[in-house]
Amino acid sequence: MIKVGLTGGIGSGKSTVSNMIREKNIPVVDADIIARDVLEIYSEILEEIKNVFGEKFINEDGKLNRRELGNYIFKSKELRGKLEDIMIPYIKKEIFERIDKYNKLGENLCIVDAPTLIEHCIHKEMDTNILVWVNRDIQIERVMKRDFFKKEQVLHRINSQMLLQDKKKEVDYVIDNSFDLDYTKKQLKEILKKTMSVGGCNERQKEKKK
Ligand code: ATP
Repeated sequence: MIKVGLTGGIGSGKSTVSNMIREKNIPVVDADIIARDVLEIYSEILEEIKNVFGEKFINEDGKLNRRELGNYIFKSKELRGKLEDIMIPYIKKEIFERIDKYNKLGENLCIVDAPTLIEHCIHKEMDTNILVWVNRDIQIERVMKRDFFKKEQVLHRINSQMLLQDKKKEVDYVIDNSFDLDYTKKQLKEILKKTMSVGGCNERQKEKKK
């Protein structure tokens, strides 16, 4: 089974492309969904969060108050790092378990949709990787519109992430999502066709991974 990593930056169109992939009935392993699921699957995560951040982020029903914790850690890189240190090992474990499940089901292609695919080195485990890229001005405009943010809020978020131009260097394919959806769809179709025809990984890509 060919494993394809799909990533992007805030508002670059990763979910949009991921939905296009789902429409083709290609299995998608979604890291954002997994980040929620792991809290249900591995109860030890909540214990670790309680130990590091305190009881105040646990609701009366014993569930994590994601919103409160999100607001608390949002401005601190150090705190965000602490939460990631707890969550990432479980998220990675679950990602690879779901990949394995699709493999056993006999699928020939599986997409791993993860905003921090590169930051957490998951891309190195993939056969090929795609970045959904967008022109910065359009990115700002789309996020302002989608999330009702002011420009400064969007810029703060963009600047707290790995830059799209740096992500570009780590991937095999780039989808330019700065234009209409049909153009995005066309690029996706070509990339998937190419990926399947070279068995997920051509010689140049293999070389790059060494
Ligand atoms: P995030 O990681 O921040 O959740 P994302 O990368 O998943 O963002 P999307 O939610 O897919 O990005 O897209 C951001 C916004 O831009 C959405 O409102 C989406 O509808 C819109 N959008 C995406 N692609 C296009 C396009 N080609 N043309 C117009 N609007 C688009």
